[in-house]
Amino acid sequence: MDCIFCAIADGAADARVVAETESALAFLDANPLAPGHTLVVPKDHYETLDDLPPAEGRAVFSLLHRLVPAIEAAVDADGSTVGFNNGAAAGQEVDHVHGHVIPRFAGDGGGPIHGVVGSRPDLDEGDLDDIAAHIAAAVGE
Ligand SMILES: [Zn+2]
Repeated sequence: MDCIFCAIADGAADARVVAETESALAFLDANPLAPGHTLVVPKDHYETLDDLPPAEGRAVFSLLHRLVPAIEAAVDADGSTVGFNNGAAAGQEVDHVHGHVIPRFAGDGGGPIHGVVGSRPDLDEGDLDDIAAHIAAAVGE
């Protein structure tokens, strides 16, 4: 398979692995946005969060949860931005689901995660009610 994250998970490609569980792996981003920028992936290949089975989702989030304070401590960060680019439209560049932990530092010049969109949508109360209802129905509530 021509997937760099699968190759890392299989030991066929090098990476600076920082943590590993039975089904999840964490390693430094090869093109870091900050010192300590770490990726967390399921060891098996799933393209997006939509494809990730619940057990693998829990494994990825559990490892992310453990890593955030450890990474912040290791690089003396003041906080971190944690997120997934889910799908090409969101900027996902490797088609193997991965979460980013990007350490943040006071005055680093970066923006909040709110900056990922160019402009906020113009939604009224009725629009928000409709969207909430559609999401709740889709998630099965
Ligand atoms: Zn893969």
